Amino acid sequence: MNINPKIIHDALEKVRYPGTGKNIVEMGMIEDDIRIERNKVSFSIIFEKPNDPFMKSLIKAAEAAILAYAGEEIDIKGNINTKTKQPPKPAPIKLLPGVKNIIGIASGKGGVGKSTVSTNLVVALAKLGYKVGLLDADIYGPSIPKMFHAEDAKPYMEKIGERDLIMPVEQYGVKILSIGFFVNKKDALVWRGTMAGNALKQLITDVHWGELDYFLLDLPPGTSDIHLTLVQTLAVTGVVIVTTPQEVALADARKGISMFTSEKINVPVIGLVENMAWFTPAELPENKYYIFGKGGGKQIAGEMHIPLLGQIPIVQSICEGGDSGKPVALNESMTGEAFRLLATKMVEQVEIRNKNRSVTKRVEVINSK
Ligand code: ADP
Repeated sequence: MNINPKIIHDALEKVRYPGTGKNIVEMGMIEDDIRIERNKVSFSIIFEKPNDPFMKSLIKAAEAAILAYAGEEIDIKGNINTKTKQPPKPAPIKLLPGVKNIIGIASGKGGVGKSTVSTNLVVALAKLGYKVGLLDADIYGPSIPKMFHAEDAKPYMEKIGERDLIMPVEQYGVKILSIGFFVNKKDALVWRGTMAGNALKQLITDVHWGELDYFLLDLPPGTSDIHLTLVQTLAVTGVVIVTTPQEVALADARKGISMFTSEKINVPVIGLVENMAWFTPAELPENKYYIFGKGGGKQIAGEMHIPLLGQIPIVQSICEGGDSGKPVALNESMTGEAFRLLATKMVEQVEIRNKNRSVTKRVEVINSK
């Protein structure tokens, strides 16, 4: 007989799963990986649990059925693999019901301008009319209070319903909170991962964030346990990766993107921001000097199939804005415009993702009816 997958399926239809009255094909237990090489046949049977009591006897029965139906000369003994269904991943809890989108701002490497981009992006979103919040989750190097000219702010508690909640500091139309408001920098530096993680969790759950369209998390650089826990416990909409065009930064950005999109983490990357894309002197605004290299951001965005959300030049006023706590995104300047465009592009991408997600959900509901 000329062996083909249909013959194998027909043979396996003779094998019943004890106690169900159904055969293992109609129960969907045969993986779509039947391989036939001359007379050698191999495939996998999928079991619900790794300790299924009928695993061994079903494999034997499947071997016998194939030999009986398709011919004694078939090499099948020992070629049937078993797989077990993965337990479904628990859905992240909706800790912040009033928050529509939670966006992590990440970078593979420190010093690429992640906090500068977070600050100006969130201010640009506020200027566009969105309700926004920013959590400085860069627990070992909190710079948000300084960038918002709010270093001396002391957040207070208020009774909301039954709970005493921390009220975020409001500046430039943004609700902000940072570990920097509560402890001095040196103390936070010696915190271990779990302690830092718990402190951050408190800054999310014990705070009256209220209704927000966009809640940005300025994550620590690299790929630490802290932000992995954060993106896994919060229902994060996605992450934005900040990089410079420098080769070392690009390599780390690639690593970061691969980590977020890995099967285990599975957080969408909304897009890439190339910061310090070129240098433009204030007196020669038309001139561009590519001091860290040209086109690196565009290249990895293309390679990794993620949108390039924007390119921000190195401009003295951006640095000064960070130091003085007056973000350039507040101004109607060329740099203010660059951050406005970045915010618009990010919103566009988030909306596309949310639309696709609701379509997928509708299809799932229809299919389950
Ligand atoms: P990170 O959060 O990645 O560690 P920061 O946002 O603190 O980086 O930026 C590092 C330094 O670079 C800061 O002094 C900041 O003002 C400066 N900087 C960041 N982006 C720019 C830019 N586009 N132009 C000029 N200076 C910048």
